[in-house]
Amino acid sequence: MSAAGGIDLHTHSTRSDGTASPAELVAQAAEAGLSVVALTDHDTTAGWDEAAAAAERHGVELVRGIEMSTELRGRSVHLLGYLFDPDHPPLVAELERILAGREGRLPAMVARLTDAGYELTEADVLAAAPSGAVLGRPHVADALVARGYVGHRDEAFATLLGPGGVGYVPRYGTPLEDAVRILTEAGGATVVAHPWGRARALQPDDLARLSVLGLAGVEVDHQDHTPEQRAELGSLARSMDLVATGSSDFHGTGKTDHELGVNTTDPAEYARLRERAR
Ligand code: AMP
Ligand code: FE
Ligand code: FE
Ligand code: ZN
Repeated sequence: MSAAGGIDLHTHSTRSDGTASPAELVAQAAEAGLSVVALTDHDTTAGWDEAAAAAERHGVELVRGIEMSTELRGRSVHLLGYLFDPDHPPLVAELERILAGREGRLPAMVARLTDAGYELTEADVLAAAPSGAVLGRPHVADALVARGYVGHRDEAFATLLGPGGVGYVPRYGTPLEDAVRILTEAGGATVVAHPWGRARALQPDDLARLSVLGLAGVEVDHQDHTPEQRAELGSLARSMDLVATGSSDFHGTGKTDHELGVNTTDPAEYARLRERAR
């Protein structure tokens, strides 16, 4: 698919687990011919200002966003939020709680890996992460690559860091309903990210319930969804009057097959999404 003039509403920079800085990411979006790009780092808005300055220089429209770590019935669900007030106190408090959970898990992950024969220190993980990044499993993966235990991030997830792997340690996520409510109260529009990707935590009746709470949309076109899942989710979205988005979930070189513009959002759907934010 050509990205020319395209709208890509899900990307990550070095402020979380992407490998391009916010400014580099926006430059690459312009290079790819995108007209609109959203920066949606995991649990942080720290990249917004740098991305906005770059967007102005490159003539690209920046959508200020986030991908929030949430939980439903004990399973991880990622919630995209757009165009919200980042200073809304309940949101600030909740993001602090998620970040504390991420930091608290790191010593446990390092200890489990070391016990299993993959000797690793917190300093290794910090050295593998860009300074100021929200730390996640991808940085642990990068540290394992740097130590030579695995060849690539994907391999680290497949063998050690995925659920059931020796290095896997769960962490705090905001209850999904609360996250929808908080981001909506902050003036934003929310979209469930890759709802039928790896975890497939969400059922159609969950979407119906969440839409009553203010959920604006679902990410339909995503690399983790098969063509059949995209068709089914798209018709579910239409029947529930939810906005259907399509995005790359770009992580720079940190994730293969997620190039900028690989999936894009229909301009009419983007307009409806903007209307859902105040
Ligand atoms: P965390 O939020 O720290 O638990 O890490 C989750 C992040 O790891 C996701 O946002 C993805 O970017 C990445 N990730 C999850 N599963 C995989 C996988 N199988 N291969 C590569 N990256 C993954
Ligand atoms: Fe990620
Ligand atoms: Fe995600
Ligand atoms: Zn993402």
